[in-house]
Amino acid sequence: MTKSPLRVTVWSENIHERVSARVAAVYPDGMHEAIRAGLVEQLGDAVAVRTATLDQPDHGLTDAVLADTDVLTWWGHVGHDQVPDELVDRIQARVLDGMGLIVLHSGHLSKIFGRLMGTACSLVWREADDREVVWVVDPAHPIAAGLPPAFVIPEHEMYGEHFAIPQPDNLVFISSFSGGEVFRSGCCFHRGKGRIFYFSPGHESFPVYFQPEVRHVLANAVLWAHNPAPARVIPGTVHAQTGWFEASGLLGAVAPNQLDEDG
Ligand code: ZN
Repeated sequence: MTKSPLRVTVWSENIHERVSARVAAVYPDGMHEAIRAGLVEQLGDAVAVRTATLDQPDHGLTDAVLADTDVLTWWGHVGHDQVPDELVDRIQARVLDGMGLIVLHSGHLSKIFGRLMGTACSLVWREADDREVVWVVDPAHPIAAGLPPAFVIPEHEMYGEHFAIPQPDNLVFISSFSGGEVFRSGCCFHRGKGRIFYFSPGHESFPVYFQPEVRHVLANAVLWAHNPAPARVIPGTVHAQTGWFEASGLLGAVAPNQLDEDG
């Protein structure tokens, strides 16, 4: 029996690519297509990857699509305000219920990231031609698996501290820039049953999502963010009268472990 593929939805606002010749030259099929192709290149049949964009009906994220998504990746910038609050509500609910979320680059100011973090998520930036060095600072973390101690993005936008996020549950990468700044470029968070990873590389005018190391990180991140069998939890706020535990049936059977059935 073969494991069913992990269902990934790659969402992007797809605006820069359509209005900027410079960006279109880097990403002629859109950034979402480059991210999708990278995941398929790295993970093959282990994933089923669809793309969704802001200009589609329901912004590509109907209830059915979200229900059929194990991990959602998010790239947004100038279109943040065009994402309706009701969609943010629905994505947040899915994350709390166990859907993985990977927020990329300028998605630090997206509505969904701000909602889930509860802080300003602001940072210092400079669009020049800095060299970025992405350093692995948690070599035991699954998202760092297989990477060298550091890798270079030859030209990239600078994102620097202070990055106004909550303290990450795990910090996987720190970047340094030729201008001298540093930045927490790979951060893990848990919200409800959901796992969230923020990864800062991915400015639209540089071919970052074609770079092998970046594709490797995103593939690892998708695997990490997938929560295959969220634990059952006691629903809502419960007034626990004496004896409720014995009567609750909470001590049910455990689900099978998520072993590789091919191996
Ligand atoms: Zn940018």
